[in-house]
Order: sequence, then structure tokens, then C-alpha cells
Amino acid sequence: MMMLLLANKKKKAKQMQCPVCSNQAVDIGPKGFDGKVLRCPQCKDYEISATFLLKFLAWSREDRGVALAKARQFAAAGCRPSIDIRCA
Ligand SMILES: [Zn+2]
Repeated sequence: MMMLLLANKKKKAKQMQCPVCSNQAVDIGPKGFDGKVLRCPQCKDYEISATFLLKFLAWSREDRGVALAKARQFAAAGCRPSIDIRCA
């Protein structure tokens, strides 16, 4: 059972463009997570929901940066910021 779980966890890091700053980022989200968990060299780690991402991409880069800053404020200390409708 343990072996199976480990095998399922093994996956390639998915490269993608950071939706906030357009740098090369990695999607480190677990399978089945409804959205993206991104690791960006500039923005660090943050989450964004799948539904909100579509809206988010239509925003200006400046607005996206502001949303990430808000998400950081909402996140508890030591927790990963999550960009969602509260940041709009
Ligand atoms: Zn970024």
C-alpha cells in the first residue's frame, strides 16, 4: 500500500509561466487540486484556484501583483498565500 502511494506521488514538475510576473514557474500542485500551486523564483510559492485563474489572466500585470500582495496579507504567518476572489 505504501509503495503504491509513493509511486502515485512521483511526477514530473510542470513548468509554466507565472500568471503574476510571467517568469518561468513550476506547478507543484498535487494531482486533483482544483487550481495551481506555483513556485516562482520571484513570487515564491502561492496558490490560485482554477476558476479564478481565468479571470486573473485578463488583468493587467500590475493588478495581478496587487492581488498577490493581498493574498500574502490574508495568509496566516508561514502559510502559502492563496489568490482567490477575496483578492479581486
Ligand atoms: Zn511570479
